[in-house]
Amino acid sequence: MSVDDRQRKAERIRHLLDTEGNNVHENTQVFNDGRYESTADLEDYDGLKDEARAIKEDTIERLPELIHQVIEAVETNGGTVYLADDAADANRYITEVAGGRDVVKSKSMTSEEIEANESLEASGADVWETDLAEFVLQVADEAPSHIVAPAIHKSREEIADLFNAHFDPEEPLETAEELTQFAREYLGEKIMDAEVGMTGANFVTADTGTLALVTSEGNARKCVQATDTHIAVAGVEKLVPSVEDLQPFVELIGRSGTGQDITSYISLFTPPGDSPTFDEGDELGPGDDREFHLVLIDNGRMEMREDDQLRETLYCIRCSACANSCANFQHVGGHAFGGETYSGGIATGWEAGVHSQDSAAEFNDLCTGCSRCVNACPVKIDIPWINTVVRDRINHEDQTEFDFLVEGLTPDEEPGRMDLQKRFFGNYATLAKLGSATAPMSNWLAGTKPAQVLMERFMGIDRRRDLPKFRRETLRKWFEARGGSRISRTDASREAVLYPDAYTNHVQVERGKAAVRVLEALGVSVQIPEVASSGRAPLSQGMIGTAERHAHEVYADLAEHIDAGRDVVVIEPSDLAMFAGEYEKFLPEQSAERLDSNSYEIMEYVYGLLENGASGRELRAGGGEGVAYHSHCQQRTLGLEAHTVAVLDELGYDVLTSETECCGMAGSFGYKREYYELSMDVGSELESQFQAENARDRTVVASGTSCLEQLESLLERPSQHPVQLVDPVR
Ligand code: SF4
Repeated sequence: MSVDDRQRKAERIRHLLDTEGNNVHENTQVFNDGRYESTADLEDYDGLKDEARAIKEDTIERLPELIHQVIEAVETNGGTVYLADDAADANRYITEVAGGRDVVKSKSMTSEEIEANESLEASGADVWETDLAEFVLQVADEAPSHIVAPAIHKSREEIADLFNAHFDPEEPLETAEELTQFAREYLGEKIMDAEVGMTGANFVTADTGTLALVTSEGNARKCVQATDTHIAVAGVEKLVPSVEDLQPFVELIGRSGTGQDITSYISLFTPPGDSPTFDEGDELGPGDDREFHLVLIDNGRMEMREDDQLRETLYCIRCSACANSCANFQHVGGHAFGGETYSGGIATGWEAGVHSQDSAAEFNDLCTGCSRCVNACPVKIDIPWINTVVRDRINHEDQTEFDFLVEGLTPDEEPGRMDLQKRFFGNYATLAKLGSATAPMSNWLAGTKPAQVLMERFMGIDRRRDLPKFRRETLRKWFEARGGSRISRTDASREAVLYPDAYTNHVQVERGKAAVRVLEALGVSVQIPEVASSGRAPLSQGMIGTAERHAHEVYADLAEHIDAGRDVVVIEPSDLAMFAGEYEKFLPEQSAERLDSNSYEIMEYVYGLLENGASGRELRAGGGEGVAYHSHCQQRTLGLEAHTVAVLDELGYDVLTSETECCGMAGSFGYKREYYELSMDVGSELESQFQAENARDRTVVASGTSCLEQLESLLERPSQHPVQLVDPVR
């Protein structure tokens, strides 16, 4: 990315933070909190998600057969199915059916994807969006900023100003009730007058040709029942085999998206309807000759089905949980975190599949891979992986036949013309080795003004960030110099390998020393062998080939220790998350499983030792010391936050945990020139909580390297890893 592009991106994000950020934040927080509350009421939330996923897997596997089945079902019911190859094909058919008549629409992302409104209007039809938020955007001539709540970026006051200026009502509109009533009456007339109703479909059952529409306003059924011709537009992935299969989705979709136990309207239609459904005065409503057209759209989906990496995108039920749970989305919204149509975490998959990789490239880097969305997704899609794969493909876009010339000159497996910023952060392990070998010179040099200017210009590293300071004496050197473990293998209750991740070995050396002393205090004999870096840094930049090589090296380095019965103890949560997650994709199943089941986060391990009878009397007790603790995103996803809190509680610390899920730093993300402001904006929530009266005097503790770095820049007081708190020699 050029300097100007970075500058433009930074300005755009700053503008959106200032203009839309507060509204998006407030509303997505409500949705996200609602999701936690509503899903907690489910007896078997996880089981329901498994059920939903299994149905989607089966659907996509049998898609050609189900398409055939739904065509038969709809035709038997008296309707028509049109299979459209792409947007142009779909629009040609839709405009032919509409024939220039006025159209009322309920909300449909698929119709936005194909730009049906523009095409209908070009054919002479008047098109009215009858979903309130879509109507607001139609009046404002703006694009949606969220896949479920498209006008989430607008406040009530802004909508009132918009309506008052556009419609000039007799009495100015002000309250939510007045605005809704006005839109209801205005759109009611349009619905009465229109002859064509267009809807999307959340699900289409292949056995009966039934459409399931999940809405909040009931406008979809009005559009269907009050018009002569119903056109439903749906991507082919919206099929499910049978009506019975709707059950888990109906349970999950509202809870996951808007946090409602059930949405206001769940309408099941098996069109065409066979009777007039309402009358007005003496006039009967639409008669028996109502038409129904189901336009099933491919537009890249069948290719996505054949693509092993993008295929999972087709399981998406567009609930928006991945957007609502994402810290970056919560702060900047879909006008930055989105492409031509889709927004939020899964938008990368959709945009790359139905539009283009270029559209996905615009916002793909906003996914930091924190993986919080994976637990939020009702069909368990590995959203960060889809983002990583597309990032990798973008990196390879500029591949040339001369790439072999740089082979061996870079420590990675990537193409020669890859973005320099990505190459810099992706090769952090090599940089750290060099940095330690030349410290303190390397640290001095990186802190000089000219170096900062150059790094900002050529690598896009924001000069307002201080780069981590490398330590001349690495953790491994210190460990060797002290003569290895102070607990001999024969006297030990257990043996463990402390994984020397690049941050602990070269930068956060004190937390590594503390970990050694804590483990020894609990009777563990420790080893710190040379082990390759996990590959997290290259993976975060989409350098999959390089990350995969690291995975194999790590396993080769650790296998002999696992064979010898040693546990692998990991301090950096993002590295443990690699072992527990992404390594599944890189290593043979058995190897990944062995490494995962023998690896532990440091405080999880301490907790396990204490629970199994180890004495904690040598650990430093808290004596009521107040602690403000921020856990790491991936640590939370792995369900490991509670272990740290339990250990600190047990040792007498008074722990306050952060309510904020993300510190905003996310590895290299917060260092990047184009994302610095967003990173600080996300971090400001954590800052407020830890600066509040009940936290101001507490010792600040965090598990992840980047969280520690962010906290140091947000708060003017030092922070440390929890293992340093309980270090016997602190
Ligand atoms: S990826 Fe999952 S969480 Fe995101 S919109 Fe789709 S179904 Fe919902």
